[in-house]
Order: sequence, then structure tokens, then C-alpha cells
Amino acid sequence: MVIRSNFLLDWYGFTRASLFIKNGLIVKICNNCSDSYNRLIDARKYYVIPSFIDGHAHLFSMAKRIEWLDLSEVSSLKELKRVISSVAEKLGEDKWILGFGWDESKWSDEQRYPTMMDLDEASPNNPVFIRRIDGHLAVINSVALSRLQLNKNLRGLRLKKDGSPSGILVEDALEYASKQLEYNLETLSKGLIKISLKAGENGVSMSHETMSLDDLSALFYALTVTGIKKLGMQFYAFILDKYMDLVLSRGFSKIANDIVKVAGIKVFVDGSIGARTAALRDPYKDDPGNRGMLLKNRDELAELFSKADKAKLQLAVHAIGDKAIDVVLDAMKMAKITKELRHRIEHFELAYDEHIKAAKKLGIILSMQPNFVGQWQFQGGLYEKRLGKERCRAMNPFKKIIDNDLILSFGSDCMPFDPIFGIWSAVNHPVEESRTDVLTAIKAYTFNSAYAAFSEDIRGEISIGKRADLVILSHNPLEIDDIRRLKILSHMIHGEFAYINFV
Ligand SMILES: [Zn+2]
Repeated sequence: MVIRSNFLLDWYGFTRASLFIKNGLIVKICNNCSDSYNRLIDARKYYVIPSFIDGHAHLFSMAKRIEWLDLSEVSSLKELKRVISSVAEKLGEDKWILGFGWDESKWSDEQRYPTMMDLDEASPNNPVFIRRIDGHLAVINSVALSRLQLNKNLRGLRLKKDGSPSGILVEDALEYASKQLEYNLETLSKGLIKISLKAGENGVSMSHETMSLDDLSALFYALTVTGIKKLGMQFYAFILDKYMDLVLSRGFSKIANDIVKVAGIKVFVDGSIGARTAALRDPYKDDPGNRGMLLKNRDELAELFSKADKAKLQLAVHAIGDKAIDVVLDAMKMAKITKELRHRIEHFELAYDEHIKAAKKLGIILSMQPNFVGQWQFQGGLYEKRLGKERCRAMNPFKKIIDNDLILSFGSDCMPFDPIFGIWSAVNHPVEESRTDVLTAIKAYTFNSAYAAFSEDIRGEISIGKRADLVILSHNPLEIDDIRRLKILSHMIHGEFAYINFV
């Protein structure tokens, strides 16, 4: 097969060429060559880049909750209640109402978390569980509370002043509740098919994921249910640290096929800014007594990192607040982690020059989400409210990271699952010194994310010998006035079309 188009062949710009594909690989790139071919795709009007590798996503979680209510478009607390009560009316009594994606910082009436009382008003008889957009907080109603039989001493079950549950769940309590509700194999199978189609549509051929061992086995069982042998896209999976011993003793770390490759271990060190659980040096501006949650201390982390490193497991460490980043970098130093394993810090949002320097010394990769900037870092947005102007400005310093020659991998964290919005956000960062140019942002979402997954030899670039993982764009991303207007016209994964939308 031959594609004629304008290709991003290096990181300087587009070149008009003919690209020959055989057995899923790019075998020849030339201009005006007369070799024969059996199929020609004439895309000379368009622009081709390597397909996106989402360096941090939760597509598997999206697959699990494919039948949940999507609350991301809800624009007020009032509307949230209305949506829930209308669903409750349609559902039979007793049936669970499960939702996700709400973001109170965007609401037009009250910008606060819903409470148990709000949800009881909306749904007095059906149990309700709704997860916030960042996944780090959920709210339940009274019926759900009694169904779930949550232990009052469970960490993360927030209580009211009188000692009764507020309905808000974070961390352990949240995990305990979601475990009981998430999915069965049939819904997961449907979800996986829908998610792989969505990845095709969004130009994503690989997603770096967080999974439990239960998720990993459920993935294979669900594929047995569907009879599907491959999904198109591939999961690059980090298994939660509590399973590290099992990952090693059972040999899970050796799993590597077209569907999933086990990368290493995911460690959560704090929560999110939105849920006020990101660990900060100084208190939240809008919650003066609160500095967030540090989920593990430095010594615990050092021990964990050293164990993973010795076992040659790659680390992906979630750290958002400045305090969490302090502790993680210290612990990595204590553990004497090896550069060759390409360990990573995920998010690295409230990061200062000293953090960047320390990260550089350690040789780690920074896996960041530019769409957080587009969602929450603009003037008057959530980050400014939670942190004040000065700390808000310091967030997500992409350009400094690039200028210091660190590897910056971009991902979406599924907020939203949309690399093009991420690229727009990186290029339009509200702080000029933190902005990247368009090609740097594309490289972070392709080649650098391939590098972060040890697969830069086969993915992430348009060059001979690499997989034909290609995205055909409607416009030249270097010339279009608003990057958000770019359309993905077609997406090829390993030489096969995963999505076609030519008009
Ligand atoms: Zn995440």
C-alpha cells in the first residue's frame, strides 16, 4: 500500500512524499518514485503525523463504566440533581445509579461538591454513586451508604461535624466502594470494544494505564467473552504497588502481547488539586487548614522504589502537589534508582526549578497532562481558586522541562480523552514561559511517550522500519489558527485502518 501525503518525517515540519507500507511496517519513503503498489491512498491535501501514544490514560476504567451516566456536560448542581432524579424515575426502585465526570468548578450555581443530602433529595430510593471528573472523589446517598456497609473507620470516609458520614468518599473508602460496583465481564467486554473504537477515532494507538491484578485478568476474560483476538490499540500497564510481590512471584511482569504489555508498578503518593488531596507545602488557599494527603512517607517510598528497581520494574509515581514531588524525588535519590529503567513521575504539576533539576539528575521521565492546563489553569479557574495566583502560575512548566533536556511524555488522563485538546492546551499555556510549540507538543504525545514505554524503536515516528501507526489530519497543525479545529480524518494502526472519516 502507498499513501501520498505531507508527512511529519522529522521534528522540523512536513514533507511531501510517498510512503510504502508492507506487513504493517513502513518500508520505503520517497518522492517521485515509480515503484509498483496494489493500493494507493491519495491524501495529498492532508497532513500525516505518527499516531498518538497517550502517556497516561484510564481507558480500561472507561471501558468498565461504559454504561454509567456521563455527567461531564452537567452545568450546575441543580441540573445534576435533575438528571439523577429523572434517571431514578425511569429505573426500577433499588437499581444503582452510577455516574462519573462531574466537575463542580464549572457549575453556574454553587461551586461545591454535592452532599449526601443533595443526592437523597434527587434519589430517595435508588442507591447513587457519582465519581468526580478527576476520579479521586465520589459522593453517595443514604441508600448507597447502607448498601455498601462502609466501615466508619475506613480512611477517606469524610464525616460531618456531628460524626455522621457526609457522603463524600476519597482514597481507601472510594476504592472500597468502586470495587463493589464497577462491572461484570459482559459490560466490560462491551466497554472494551467501544473504547478501542474511540481510541481509533482519537488517533491513539497505545495507552499507558494503571491496573490492578484483578483488572488485568478481567481484561483477558472479557476478551474471551467477545472472541476478539486483538483490540487495535495496546495497553501499556502499570500494576498498583500493593500487588508488587504477586507481579514478581507469578511472573506477570513478563506479559507482553498485542493487547497488553506489563510495564511495572504504579504508586500513588497524593490525590488531586480538585479534590484538595494533592499534598502541598503550604495550605490550600480556599481551605486554610488543609495541606492535602501524603499517602506514603519518604522511607516507605524509598523502600518500595528500591525493591521495584532491583526487580527491574519501571515505576510510574503519581505526584501532583509540591510536597508530594519533594518526597518522591528524595525517596528516589535514597533508593538510588537506575536511569536505564526510565522511571517516571506522573503529573508533576506544582513543580519548581529545584524539582526539575533533581528530576534531571535522577534521569527520570516526566509524564504530564497538558489538558489540565486547558481545563483548570486559566485565569479564574480551579487551580487559581485552590492555590492562589502565584502557585497557579508555577504549575505545569512544560517549556522549562524541555529546555532542561528532560523527556516529557504527554497524556490525557481522560480529562477529556482528546490528544488534540492537550496539544492546544500546551501551546496556549496561560504562562508564556511554560508554553511549548506545536511540534514539541506533538512529539511529547508520540515519540516521547513511545520512549517512556521502551518502544521508540518501533513506534512514535514516521520512518523506515517503524510500525505504520499514522494519523491523517485535516489541516496543517503548524498553520491552523485554532488547533482545536483539527480533525482526525483517518487513523491507521499497524498498517490497518482503525478509523476512516474522509468527507
Ligand atoms: Zn490518572
